[in-house]
Amino acid sequence: MANTGAGRAATAGRMLDLLRTQGTLSRVELAERTGLTPATITNTMRRLIDGGLVHEIGTGVRQGRGQPRRLLELNPGAWYAVGIQVDRATTTIVMLDFAGARIAGASLRGSGGAGPEVTVAALADHVTALLDRTGVPHSRVLGVGLVTHGPQDRERGVLLTAQPEPAWFEFPLTAVLAERLRLPVLLENDATAAAFGEQWAGTVPTDTFGLIYMASGIGGGVVVDGESYRGRASNAVEIGHVALGGGVAACVCGNRGCAQAEAGPRTVVEQVLADAGLADRLGVEGDPDDTLADFERVARAWRTGDGEAAALLEQSATWIGQAAVTLANLFDLDTVVLAGPAFVTAGPLYRRHVAAELEQHALTRALSRPDVRLAANIDTAAAIGGALHVLRAMPIDAQAPLPATDGPALEGTL
Ligand SMILES: [Zn+2]
Repeated sequence: MANTGAGRAATAGRMLDLLRTQGTLSRVELAERTGLTPATITNTMRRLIDGGLVHEIGTGVRQGRGQPRRLLELNPGAWYAVGIQVDRATTTIVMLDFAGARIAGASLRGSGGAGPEVTVAALADHVTALLDRTGVPHSRVLGVGLVTHGPQDRERGVLLTAQPEPAWFEFPLTAVLAERLRLPVLLENDATAAAFGEQWAGTVPTDTFGLIYMASGIGGGVVVDGESYRGRASNAVEIGHVALGGGVAACVCGNRGCAQAEAGPRTVVEQVLADAGLADRLGVEGDPDDTLADFERVARAWRTGDGEAAALLEQSATWIGQAAVTLANLFDLDTVVLAGPAFVTAGPLYRRHVAAELEQHALTRALSRPDVRLAANIDTAAAIGGALHVLRAMPIDAQAPLPATDGPALEGTL
């Protein structure tokens, strides 16, 4: 394996990953952390440095009487990746450099009731505008991570749902966006990407944790021993579509009592709309394309002491706490992260109620106190995860060499 092209690429990928998460490392530290031989490290690192992906940045602390170790770091400008999170009510675009730092981003309206053709065309225009604004050459963008709800067929780059309208079902999302942007596009589940993005942010103090993602809908992700749990076809941990005890509400998935149907932002907004006086007072309008904006109005009202808004959100948060108990019991978790634009303002209320449910009902509550935390990048974690996925997954040896005027060329296989 080590001598094959794929083996070399995998070895290089591990080293790039380590440098991306650790910032700087010496060759000795890379050998210690990967278990690879110093010769393999040296050879691989030579190719990475020659390819312009890694550079030496002077020396670290002198170790005993030996030579000081030369430190290595990713060349942030070697490549870039774009992450797009999109659903009916929200769109977030971020651009990361090769080291994983966010260099630009935009928050936009969601796809609304528009069909996939119109949505993909608009996304392509936004990405192009972002590239223009940052001055990042198109030739240096590795690809785009397109992050959205499931169920999806990740391999084929299509959604297997007719939400929000039938034209989305099996529409060739990644193929059409790739053609428009002339860049590779990878499809990813939003909750899985958010878990990945949060793990990368380094603020989750464990490498095994669950994540509940709430945008227009509710999804879940689980990271086990540092790796995203993907299930058979990357539609794992759909915690929004697990029926809750006592739940009766009809769900878009065809079942009843799902967490999304009982507790999702649309449900909260509809509960407000059922009381004309309350809707008027909170300024909730009910446009399905603006569900998250309406939900945000409810959250802001809670923040300013509105008791009725608080009661509705608390009810939703308790349902989500129940879903979190199922998540924790299934995967033996004591850490649950809340991410997604719906938690931007209401997050502290949800965190409190989800923690209370876990403390009272998680099967292993006697073993360790559940840790519920808000994501470091509450509304951008999914888009960041999508871009990181591109940085990690895209075979760099398959990319065209960089133009000489743009910097060092990437030639040969890594
Ligand atoms: Zn459902």
